[in-house]
Amino acid sequence: MPVNVYNMNMSEMLSLKGLLEKVRSYKGGADLDILKKAYHFSSEAHCSQKRSEGSPYIKHPLAVAYILADMKMDVASISAGLLHDTVEDTLTTTDDLKGIFGKDIAFIVKSLTKLSKVEFQTKKEAQAENFRKMLLAMSEDVRVILIKFADRLHNMRTLEFLPAAKQQRIAAETLEIYAPLANRLGIGWLRLELEDLSFKYLMPELYDELIRKVAKRKEEQESYIKEVIELIEAKLKEEGLPGRVKGRIKHYYGIYQKMQKQRITFDQVHDVIGLRILTDTKSNCYAILGLIHSLWTPIPGRFKDYIGVPKSNMYQSLHTTIIGPKGERVEFQIRTEEMHRISEEGIASHWKYKEKGEFDERNSKYIAWLRDLVQVQKEVPDAVDFLEAVKGEVVPEVVYVFTPKGEIKEMPVGSTPVDFAYGVHTQVGHRCVGAKINGKIVPLRYILKNGDTIEIITSTTHGPSRDWLKFVITQRAKTRIKQWIKQEERSQSVELGIKLLETELRKHSMSNALMKSDEILKAAKSLGLGSLEELFSAVGFGKVSSHQVLNRLMPEKVTAEPEPARQQKPLKEHKGVSIKGIDDVLYHTAKCCYPIPGDNLAGFVTVGKGVTIHRKECPNLEKQTGAEARLIDVDWQSAPDFTASARLFVETIDKPGILANLSALISSVNININHLEASSTQDQRGLITFIIDVRDIAQLRMIIQKISQMEGILRVKR
Ligand code: MN
Repeated sequence: MPVNVYNMNMSEMLSLKGLLEKVRSYKGGADLDILKKAYHFSSEAHCSQKRSEGSPYIKHPLAVAYILADMKMDVASISAGLLHDTVEDTLTTTDDLKGIFGKDIAFIVKSLTKLSKVEFQTKKEAQAENFRKMLLAMSEDVRVILIKFADRLHNMRTLEFLPAAKQQRIAAETLEIYAPLANRLGIGWLRLELEDLSFKYLMPELYDELIRKVAKRKEEQESYIKEVIELIEAKLKEEGLPGRVKGRIKHYYGIYQKMQKQRITFDQVHDVIGLRILTDTKSNCYAILGLIHSLWTPIPGRFKDYIGVPKSNMYQSLHTTIIGPKGERVEFQIRTEEMHRISEEGIASHWKYKEKGEFDERNSKYIAWLRDLVQVQKEVPDAVDFLEAVKGEVVPEVVYVFTPKGEIKEMPVGSTPVDFAYGVHTQVGHRCVGAKINGKIVPLRYILKNGDTIEIITSTTHGPSRDWLKFVITQRAKTRIKQWIKQEERSQSVELGIKLLETELRKHSMSNALMKSDEILKAAKSLGLGSLEELFSAVGFGKVSSHQVLNRLMPEKVTAEPEPARQQKPLKEHKGVSIKGIDDVLYHTAKCCYPIPGDNLAGFVTVGKGVTIHRKECPNLEKQTGAEARLIDVDWQSAPDFTASARLFVETIDKPGILANLSALISSVNININHLEASSTQDQRGLITFIIDVRDIAQLRMIIQKISQMEGILRVKR
């Protein structure tokens, strides 16, 4: 039987005696001394405190212990439930608990104790850090989260006594984190109750309205449902299939979500009341499904086989919707008693059957998931980011896809091959260059569909692209791509910073040895930068100019000396640009002005992407923020066969053949056309944009000259 705390009688008088009886009912001969001790210790410790509604504080830990006993948890868990607030709210220390109750209980309570508030800047940060601490502890001892769940559930049940602002905050946090986490860990009843309680406080009017409407619907359909149940039960008997049929009301938050997602009204929600058939074996589930489908017409697309393909939280059931005897839609869930138990208890089922020892296979899947989260947390050191990542991990809507080996994987709806690749392994994600779906190459932004077989193509020479962030949806992929970019940007800016500083040193005839000296470290510190790496990175990012650094390093020398004329001796032949005599710099030319050799150039130090080369007169340069410190002198140092892209706008009369003539002319002087775009205006003119490869400004002028002499040309400009 499922744990049925949901329907627990709330007016039940809580007492130590009642608790002991409850535990004895499922723990037979267990030694309950430690439980009694925990109760007395806790009531002593909390004796001067009251709950918000005015009752003695011990009522809360006692209620938490009751919930844990309803979940048939072990004695240590229930004792920890009684003690869970002692370290946080009283003078008790973890060491006290360890001495009296042993290290397991002490560990659980310690893990549930919030970190001191003074360490955090914001509430969000504190919440995230406390949550992370708890998740890490939970991967060591799962009972930590179960006690936290019981604590949260009791707080939600008694939320009415708190001020409105606090109600909203706690309800939102419950809905965002604890309910999805309960769902992910397979504790079905808990998820439903947490969701409905949160819903009640977050949207009270909607909640009340739904309660009224559901009650009315139930009244209207009561006799009809009864009829259907009787009919099915008779048929089951006839066929010799064991099974019991139960009416089921969808939970309020579930109805609300469905209305939201499908943009429908309450009257259009068909599965408010559904039927659930519980039977003994898997094959009888399918037999009963066949029976239902032979009695009534199933609605296409509504059949789901979660027995063949269980959900990631181990949920198993068959779902189908049929057109019932009166033309009404009825949803059926068909499952075994055991599947039902699992869908209610999830990870908590473990303690019911085993006091200690090995986790069964199902439970070890939950544990594997937790371990995986711990791995994510190692890669995402920021607690707030980690919390976001966990939220991303608990989303319930999924598609099922296959690996090339036929292994089934569950991905959130909307996932792309890149999400999948990061799901396999971080390195697979980083090296992903393409994907095949069912044997065919697809774009990386392809959206995975149910049943896709997906193969990731990797290359060791590739890294993630910033563009991926526009389409990946899993937190795992997002955080890992961002981290990679951050790291990449940092190492690039450090490299560029070193080059810029070395050049500045050379300009002042100072030794490169200074780059590793104490003096430069001092200069860095005076600029508020803690280390050499930070200094180089700041220069590379353009936050600090190399000139500023030299000023700190040798104030007299740098400011006193006029800037010497730049040495014009050519560097080794090289394709591309150099920066104040440094070659081999990461750069790209700006797509707003297409600079070419011969133009006056300006380099702009970008964040993480090296230097962008603009023409000096490019209007975009001025628009850049903080431009001054980030502008540097650059020069072309081109080899004879070097070319750069230039852009030409040509305006023509709109005459057939003119585009062909133009292209022929450009090609005739051995200029390569990279790209062209042509359009015509309403007033019969043709507008053509060419991107061509040219050696330098002289060659560009030559071709402009030639084009403008052609017949039918109105204007040519860069
Ligand atoms: Mn508490």
